[in-house]
Amino acid sequence: MLVRREIERLSSKEIADVSGGTGTSSDAPTLRIRSGGVSCQETQDLIHGYIDGELDLVRTIEMERHIKGCASCSQAYQAQQDLKSAMQAAPLRFSAPPDLRRRIQASLREAGAPAPGRRAFQWLPAWRWAGAMAALALVAVIGWNLGHISRVPTGDELIAQEVIDSHVRSLMANHLEDVPSTDQHTVKPWFNGKLDFSPPVQDLAKDGFPLVGGRLDYLENRPVAALVYQRRKHFINLFIWPSTHASGQGAVMRQGYNVLHWTQSGMVFWAASDLNSSELQEFAKLIQQSGG
Ligand SMILES: [Zn+2]
Repeated sequence: MLVRREIERLSSKEIADVSGGTGTSSDAPTLRIRSGGVSCQETQDLIHGYIDGELDLVRTIEMERHIKGCASCSQAYQAQQDLKSAMQAAPLRFSAPPDLRRRIQASLREAGAPAPGRRAFQWLPAWRWAGAMAALALVAVIGWNLGHISRVPTGDELIAQEVIDSHVRSLMANHLEDVPSTDQHTVKPWFNGKLDFSPPVQDLAKDGFPLVGGRLDYLENRPVAALVYQRRKHFINLFIWPSTHASGQGAVMRQGYNVLHWTQSGMVFWAASDLNSSELQEFAKLIQQSGG
């Protein structure tokens, strides 16, 4: 038990401090509550545990202090408390008002829905309505809480992160290219036998984006082609691999890097750079126009 352990570690002076009594010895160690306490973010994250009494003693005191002294956290705390008491007070047995039933039946008839609608609503006993409504309320509350705690990143977000990591790594490790060449006719055949596809390689030197080389990389659990282009002092990593499913296009800005992605001719393209977004868009357009 966390709470138990916390208490056992405290001296009598500390326990006195917590319980509001007075300590006996002036040089006893003071209560080990961090002077800074919890931050607003921590408070918001822990508020459900705090309300449900799931936090350890020290944390509970820190939370209590923070909420007392912080208007926005105190407001969030009050909102949670209100929701909790509303849920507890809510009557979980009730029947649908006859007016609602009539309106649903009417709109079903208007929509040309077949007759079963009417029968289903007529035999649905009151306790079923109550059950269904309670279940809905529960789902709403659970959904709200889950949404509050964590949001599952989408596939594109995960790839974007991988792409940025890879871009940063290639610059940090000074390992931009395995085949340093400005010649597309050198870079393209270099991938032969190293990948199970042949990436399109274009030199865009005449448009101000010279090709500087190519590299093997690993993204989305597979080997991919990385082409490296340059714009003034900025490098662009263009990752290419065959697409397994139709995915759209998009642009994200993260950690100071611009990332663009699109699909063309059965290949997925991800471009990452610290270049500004309009010039990176221009680069993407040139690649797309050159046939991808
Ligand atoms: Zn706060």
